[in-house]
Amino acid sequence: MKFAVKIASAVAVLAMLTTPAMAEKTVKWKLAMTWPSTLTPLASPPAKVAKMVKEMSGGTFIIKVEGKEKHKAPLGILDMVKGGQYQMGHSGSYYWKGKDISTIFFTTIPFGMTTAEQYAWFYYDDGMKYMQQVYDRFKVLNYPGGNTGVQMGGWFKKEINSLEDLKGLKMRIPGLAGEVFAKLGVNVTNIPAGELYTSLDRGTIDALEWVGPGMDIKMGFHKVAPYYYTGWHEPASEMQFLVNKRAYKKLSPEHQAILQTAMKAAAADMYYENFAASANAWEQMKTEFPNIKVKTFPLPVLKAMKAATDDLLDSYAAKDEQFKAILESQRKFMKKAREWTIISDYNYIKTSMDVK
Ligand code: CA
Repeated sequence: MKFAVKIASAVAVLAMLTTPAMAEKTVKWKLAMTWPSTLTPLASPPAKVAKMVKEMSGGTFIIKVEGKEKHKAPLGILDMVKGGQYQMGHSGSYYWKGKDISTIFFTTIPFGMTTAEQYAWFYYDDGMKYMQQVYDRFKVLNYPGGNTGVQMGGWFKKEINSLEDLKGLKMRIPGLAGEVFAKLGVNVTNIPAGELYTSLDRGTIDALEWVGPGMDIKMGFHKVAPYYYTGWHEPASEMQFLVNKRAYKKLSPEHQAILQTAMKAAAADMYYENFAASANAWEQMKTEFPNIKVKTFPLPVLKAMKAATDDLLDSYAAKDEQFKAILESQRKFMKKAREWTIISDYNYIKTSMDVK
């Protein structure tokens, strides 16, 4: 009898030692995202994380992803992850600026860093430290969740030749950029995504911004507004993964490592996915609609936008110590990062164009 028990326990110990993944109890999480499940590439990182986590954990860690069509609360993600109804969320940090203005730094800032510069700030400067500091009050962990790259300045029905042309212009442009345009006399409106095409077509609005060719082409804006302005306001919009802190602490070290690796890989991958989608979509758009004109805003307009942006950022900094510290960190890092971007990427692109 005693001998049989010893054999059985020895077999059990051996099984635990040889198949650690199997010894883990299966963890089941739910993730809610701001986007509908079909809205790629924004909906791609959560799907990729779920797939990677399942495969890397040998099926012991399962994440069920729910789009907004299921949970019906696209702007309730932070609250739902904080409250624990969902262990994870996928959204955009700047949607929470009403809860804490410092959240805007972890998406993008008008005239701010490019994707490479911003990821360098997140991972190899103070970005992650400040991000966690800001999200601590919500009892959630926050991680980069995928980047769009430089977004386009938007689709305009009329050409913008001067600051005068902005006065009274009706435009859909959310966030800090909307505040900047409002300062310059634009009549900024917020219209649900589903009504944007009709509003632009019928002239309810004169202009709008969305993302870039890859996502814009599906909305059809290029069919009704011929001027496509280059970007200034969202140079590197980062999505976010939110994780409930208590749920994360309950994970085994192996599951934590798997989740961290999957989130970082899926975030980087969204940038590649959107880059390819935009290159392909732009080729298609310019072929099918040769009347589209890519324009850059005139310099006096851009200078006024930059001055209004700096004024807004400085006014928030004067009222909020945390905001001030993060703004200074970004400005300081961007100064040296941009110098290197100019020496490296900018000069390389210029050189390769010069020799054509
Ligand atoms: Ca946008």
